[in-house]
Amino acid sequence: MTASDFRSEREEVLEAVRRIVAAGLVSGASGNVSRRISTAEGALFAVTASRVPYHRFSIGDVLIVDADVDPVVGDGIPSSESLVHMAVYRARPDVGAVIHTHSIHASAFAVAGRPIPAILDEQVVLLGGAVEVAEYGASASEELAERAVAALGQRAAALLRNHGALAVGADLDEAVAVAGLVERIAQICLLSGRLGETQTLAADIVQSEAAVYRMMKGFKES
Ligand SMILES: [Zn+2]
Repeated sequence: MTASDFRSEREEVLEAVRRIVAAGLVSGASGNVSRRISTAEGALFAVTASRVPYHRFSIGDVLIVDADVDPVVGDGIPSSESLVHMAVYRARPDVGAVIHTHSIHASAFAVAGRPIPAILDEQVVLLGGAVEVAEYGASASEELAERAVAALGQRAAALLRNHGALAVGADLDEAVAVAGLVERIAQICLLSGRLGETQTLAADIVQSEAAVYRMMKGFKES
């Protein structure tokens, strides 16, 4: 295949990168973005290249890889957290895009080892509930990938202990929105704590709003 293959999918990833940079969710060369591409021969993935600073990130830095992260188009090194992305795609057929950020407030929860509790209606409807923290796994390890998938469950976001945040969506638009929402609720949660006790949503409200999330995702009720 040539570099012109999958141009529109790679442009979409580049656009998502620009949006998370503009939103302040990543800096330097941290974080990564991917999307699933369905082809007649099976799924491929457009992923951001590793260690390319965002100020000079271009379409050439979006690579096409297969499910084993073997290169199909492009000659950069795929993101160091590609294993996390692939593990999510394997576990969650509903997921079409994955974004990993080191956004500040969400990372603060990840460093404290504290989930972001269910505090906002939109959080539960759009993310599925509290944002859980994956047990620690070294960067780029299989262990991190497994633990991230476990913490994510059927929800749209998780925190990676002592590392950052993970956001997923049916497509890149949704994943970008989730990544932004995770950071916003983390910030609101911290600010509300300064005003006194953070009031979490009542369990029955969380349950009914999480049911809306699962319905929108097309998940079967267990
Ligand atoms: Zn990271």
